[in-house]
Amino acid sequence: METYKIYIDGTWVTADEGSNLEVHNPATGELIANVPNGGEKETKEAIEAAHQAFTEWSAVPANIRSGYLRRVYQLMMERQNEIARVMTLEQGKPLKEAIGEVHYAAGFLDWYAEEAKRIYGETIPAWSPNKRLMVLKQPVGVVAAITPWNFPAAMITRKIAPALAAGCTVVLKPASQTPLTAIKLFEIFEEAGIPKGVVNLVTGSAQKIGKALMEDTRVRKLTFTGSTEVGKKLMEQSAQTVKKVSLELGGHAPLIVFEDADLDKAVEGALASKLRNCGQTCISSNRFYVHHKIKEVFIEKLKEKLKDFKVGNGMEEGVEVGPLIDGKSFERIKAQINDAVAKGAKIEFGGKAEHNGITQQGGYFIVPTLLSNVTGEMLVTKEETFGPVIPVITFETDEEVIKMANDTNYGLAAYFFTESLSRSMRVAEKLEFGIIGINDGKTSTPQAPFGGYKESGIGREGGHYGLEEFLEVKYISMEI
Ligand code: ADP
Repeated sequence: METYKIYIDGTWVTADEGSNLEVHNPATGELIANVPNGGEKETKEAIEAAHQAFTEWSAVPANIRSGYLRRVYQLMMERQNEIARVMTLEQGKPLKEAIGEVHYAAGFLDWYAEEAKRIYGETIPAWSPNKRLMVLKQPVGVVAAITPWNFPAAMITRKIAPALAAGCTVVLKPASQTPLTAIKLFEIFEEAGIPKGVVNLVTGSAQKIGKALMEDTRVRKLTFTGSTEVGKKLMEQSAQTVKKVSLELGGHAPLIVFEDADLDKAVEGALASKLRNCGQTCISSNRFYVHHKIKEVFIEKLKEKLKDFKVGNGMEEGVEVGPLIDGKSFERIKAQINDAVAKGAKIEFGGKAEHNGITQQGGYFIVPTLLSNVTGEMLVTKEETFGPVIPVITFETDEEVIKMANDTNYGLAAYFFTESLSRSMRVAEKLEFGIIGINDGKTSTPQAPFGGYKESGIGREGGHYGLEEFLEVKYISMEI
């Protein structure tokens, strides 16, 4: 069994206390590796390294910083299979999806390698003939990046690529369930020759590392992806030192199928937005609003497709739905299904005891479960599910469904299917969500802004918006 190290100031080190965190394969329950259980001491060392490195790194010309990012991109692509295998082992997603994630993750390096060269300032016309007004964009400073387990590579590159492009230095704390993918990426950062101290990796106690990062005045920016609950805590902690914050938090995406939708497209979009990563994404569709006139046909078509989905260990050929990350997820999803059934929902597919449960291998699997007769009283329509459950609710009018869709504290992604152009625009404008998929269940891409309204977050990642989050605006007024 390999025991990995963390990366501070360009050196691979163990944690001071010498204790380790165990990493398990969610498909089998098997222990696959140990990583250092870092805490306050390691975090402070990493912050110091990032702080020291900042002066030089922020002064590196943009085209040179771009070159480093491009090199990381190339190495990730060369090693895509190796990274993907590690990801499937620790996270569970099917290998094909893991390779897809590596491409998506590398895409941020490619994109920000370009954007690094385009951090433009501004000149502003003055009201006085002897004044000159300018705006400079400068890197914000040391960045604390905290990432979740559902996209073990992409959530890291979506933060680190723009941070480095802007000229910032970084301390990363990856999710405890998936530190091995992070370690692989840091091996690549090292191989790409990123100067020491520019990127630092600390695995270990989330609370201790988080607290040390948030208390430190040298850390000027928090970029976090994870639960709304933890995001709120971090926002509160970061308030003490008034850090800039970007938060990508939970979601509760509605997916609306209007009566004029192309139903094959809608079914395809529903499955793409629901079953990717076993429903464990913050933009997974969570509530399916289907016009009452087409409900029966939609359910039949969906059932037909669901029969083909192979659930199992992501390493096996042909598996399309992997295990859930852990037992806690399994219990939450089962409770949501049971609550829905107790309140009158009908199981159209999956959901039954013989399909769902702990397998002999020790992993936690849930067969995609389709529920009809769902109402707003059920937990599935209120709580984030983070699993392969499709609750179908019917509606009659556009106004009614828009109201239901917006009736949530979350506001990350929303999807709808229609063949009407005017309805597309009307509905897109009225939905209170940061990401809208129209006839599209796969919206994520490095060049577009990703982020939410309401309690789904603050700020945007991806595209030129993602770079702004790591830049300060410096206004210069000069009298000549
Ligand atoms: P998820 O449900 O996706 O695991 P979490 O919000 O629990 O979402 O975790 C996201 C990231 O935040 C992980 O890296 C986790 O270790 C970290 N985290 C959890 N609790 C805290 C905390 N109190 N302070 C800082 N980071 C935390």
